[in-house]
Amino acid sequence: MGRYTGPVCKLCRREGEKLFLKGQKCYTEKCPVERRGYPPGQHGPAQARRRKQSDYALQLREKQKVKRMYGLQEEQFRNLFQRSVGQAGVTGENLLVGLEKRLDNVVFRLGLAASRAQARQLVRHRHVQVNGRAVDIPSYQVRAGDDIAVKAKSKELDVVESSLGSRTRPDVPEWLVLEEKTRVGRVLREPTRDDIPMAVQEQLIVELYSK
Ligand code: SF4
Repeated sequence: MGRYTGPVCKLCRREGEKLFLKGQKCYTEKCPVERRGYPPGQHGPAQARRRKQSDYALQLREKQKVKRMYGLQEEQFRNLFQRSVGQAGVTGENLLVGLEKRLDNVVFRLGLAASRAQARQLVRHRHVQVNGRAVDIPSYQVRAGDDIAVKAKSKELDVVESSLGSRTRPDVPEWLVLEEKTRVGRVLREPTRDDIPMAVQEQLIVELYSK
């Protein structure tokens, strides 16, 4: 199945919470989640009134929420989960850390793009370098010590400029650092679960895929 190209606000409404898929615009535009707090579609209001959800529905919604936040397709998400199972430690945490270490997410977290979708576009169009070499794979996993930079010719791109200049730009997380003048970021260390500021119940995703 191809990437979802419809209105992203519908995805937030489906999950019943703000996923900030439009990046900084989510702080300045009227948010449909706040205006219409029920799922999209003809039966949306009725679904919102139905209080009790099955365990499966809760697990599925949590997986969909995280998948949509990071903009992954089902196959990519499941592959990352399988990799997390084989790693030492807690599978759910491994999964979230794996998502955080994606190059597109790192570009977003550094503030070089206003959303993960924009960051993915920058990477795909070869505007981003890792340790001096162009990398056009959004799923590339960064490592401690990596330098992440916007290419010299791309430094003045509008998306980069407006993202860095935005008043609503979130702080760069502690495991990363950005030299704003040069647009060069560095991965100081591997992220941990505590570095991931989202309210996610990752064990529900593990339960879903373990059925
Ligand atoms: Fe989601 Fe942002 Fe749209 Fe609100 S404005 S529904 S947070 S994408």
